[in-house]
Amino acid sequence: MTVTIATLGFPRIGPRRELKYALENYWAGKTPQADLLEAAAGLRTAAWARQNALGVDWLPSGDFSLYDHVLDTSLMLGAVPQRYGAEEGAAGLGTYFAMARGTTGDAGGCAHHSSLTACEMTKWYDTNYHYMVPELVAGQKLTLNNMKVVEDYREAKAQGFETRPVLLGPVTWLSLAKGRGVDPFDFLDEVLGLYGVILSHLEQAGAQWVQIDEPVLVTDLTEQQRRALTRAYAKLPRKGLKLMLTTYFCGLDSNLGFAAALPVAGLHVDLVRAPEQLDALLKAAPKNLCLSLGVIDGRNIWRSDLESLLDRLEPVAAERDIILAPSCSLLHVPVDLALENKLDPQVRQWIAFAVQKIEELAILKRALNEGRDSVADALAASSAAAAQRKVSPLIHNPDVTARVAAITPDMRERRSPYGVRVAVQADALKLPAFPTTTIGSFPQTGEVRRARAEHGRGNIDAAAYEAFLREETGRAIRWQEEAGLDMLVHGEFERNDMVQYFGEQLSGFAFTSNAWVQSYGSRCVRPPILYGDVSRPAPMTVTWWRYAQSLTDKPVKGMLTGPVTILNWSFVRDDQPREASCRQIALAIRDEVTDLEAAGCKAIQIDEAALREGLPLKRRDWQAYLDWAVDCFRLSASGVGDATQIHTHMCYSEFNDILPSIGAMDTDVISIETARSQMELLEGFAAYRYPSAIGPGVYDIHAPRVPTVEEMVRLMELARQHLGAEQLWVNPDCGLKTRKWDEVKPAIDAMVAAARTLRESAGAAA
Ligand code: GLN
Ligand code: ZN
Repeated sequence: MTVTIATLGFPRIGPRRELKYALENYWAGKTPQADLLEAAAGLRTAAWARQNALGVDWLPSGDFSLYDHVLDTSLMLGAVPQRYGAEEGAAGLGTYFAMARGTTGDAGGCAHHSSLTACEMTKWYDTNYHYMVPELVAGQKLTLNNMKVVEDYREAKAQGFETRPVLLGPVTWLSLAKGRGVDPFDFLDEVLGLYGVILSHLEQAGAQWVQIDEPVLVTDLTEQQRRALTRAYAKLPRKGLKLMLTTYFCGLDSNLGFAAALPVAGLHVDLVRAPEQLDALLKAAPKNLCLSLGVIDGRNIWRSDLESLLDRLEPVAAERDIILAPSCSLLHVPVDLALENKLDPQVRQWIAFAVQKIEELAILKRALNEGRDSVADALAASSAAAAQRKVSPLIHNPDVTARVAAITPDMRERRSPYGVRVAVQADALKLPAFPTTTIGSFPQTGEVRRARAEHGRGNIDAAAYEAFLREETGRAIRWQEEAGLDMLVHGEFERNDMVQYFGEQLSGFAFTSNAWVQSYGSRCVRPPILYGDVSRPAPMTVTWWRYAQSLTDKPVKGMLTGPVTILNWSFVRDDQPREASCRQIALAIRDEVTDLEAAGCKAIQIDEAALREGLPLKRRDWQAYLDWAVDCFRLSASGVGDATQIHTHMCYSEFNDILPSIGAMDTDVISIETARSQMELLEGFAAYRYPSAIGPGVYDIHAPRVPTVEEMVRLMELARQHLGAEQLWVNPDCGLKTRKWDEVKPAIDAMVAAARTLRESAGAAA
């Protein structure tokens, strides 16, 4: 039997973020459209050539996107909201970017439309990649707007690459869509008709197989989704064109029999997230169903243990033809380890990025087709790295193991319940009603970033950089005092990123130089690599806090990133459960919390911006995750006395389904995002009888607009309808690092004025 290898998608951004620069230059008006398109074509060609040279038998096309593949699909189907003013079937690049990013009055757009908001953006399943949410309204007419996927197929063919075009599946696309006054599934037949047209064009162009991504198959399916899948895959397959239905990010579980029985030619499953589904799949899959096994992790950066994979794959390959592939698109991992020259060589040999993952697939293929002897050296190297990783003292630290083993239940409990703490803290802090504060960061100006970069390059020495940061911090403290804020922050000028800053000071983390992963559009992140047991060799934030506090009599909040957020925004170990890694981070943060308290800090904020996004894909797994996540937060926060006020901050507005867990975090103050939803979500907090204090963000920091005093007073009055006055704080939605000082200053002045108005009217009413 023969084994071939496939990739489901390759990173689009380019090894050196070429796409980012091409896009941003184009958006800034520095380069013409032709330059952008040429750069994009160059990246596609390079990706095909690279994968081809690495021995990929099934090359993807159509996986490239200028911004987002979900938006590409929406545009293909002509699902363009009316506000963008595109003519039916004629939405071009201008409309595409308007949907992606919105427009400002002066940049392009029609003269009479001052500005257009972008489509909503949200996370792609449980990844850190964001897609643009498709919008559908009643009466909307869908028409085929472009055939980019056909053009990409032809483009590859013209260059000598036979590819398997990639389409986002219709049922997944509909499941991601937001209907306004309409059920997206009402459009099912219309959408299927358009997919049918696309498929016939692909067939005419010479394609033999098409990859259709239906990750929705790994979620809890509704009856409606099931029916839609049945209908779609009864309709779509054609004689001359085979469909490879791809699923990823989780096991098919109870949908396995259903998926394996759909009348498609092939099925791809994720055997990294759900290795156990292989046996069930082999039983359920008809002999003529072509199986694609996702055996190499497309979501994480670890090298595989190839011999143990072969142990599992040899019996399968003896029975039937198989395709081997990464578990999902390689979009979620960096491009090439060869670009990293600063990684510790020991750590480096445990790692594989996109290119190295394809190399692993090629080795597996050869071993299965020609015998292990044909790749003996490569297998030996893989086994040696795996064996070494199991015992390396770089990873395994007995002190950390002992400390985790010694965790006792009381370490997760504050000394007294909130009702007692609140009085002690009121005494210690002496804050007015409706206390004002900010979320932590102040503008990361060009100057701040330049100084950091110059310091990184060695052009500014440590003393000069430190002096610069002190000056920035001092200015921020003085300004906050003048503005009349009640609880101050130091401003986070010394931090490059809220996770990286901590990771760099903890042991067990490694940092890369070029390992960028697309977050959305041109935005990329470079997640830290959590490779070993975590400990905190020395205090991380105390010096800066102490300096800031020395400048003022007002309380300055200590500012930390929480364990769950550090975990969720890193590439984490795959040799122990996520929860075990999280607990180690929690102990390190706990050390920092108690050191801050010992230094005299009276209020400490532990940000958990990413707690919600760690929720598993299937509901049945939610509670287990929430339990250990909350547990880790509490472990980090509970080492302090009653007088120390613990804050947290969360950057989102969907709490209703996780409120009991938010309550269980037992914080003294939580700040959340509410301005855009008009405080609606506070209803949930009220119904849940949330006991402690809440700072519902009173203005949206994501836009440059300066809010008025009146609108913030009005929002707080809405908040008052749900919560007691004594529970409320006044603060912006999130940190201010992306804003400019001339936006921040008037906004905060107005916010402080709003709080004063509230105090006065509360005083008058009393
Ligand atoms: N303290 C962080 C800041 O203000 C919080 C940001 C966040 O949670 N995203 O930047
Ligand atoms: Zn935030």
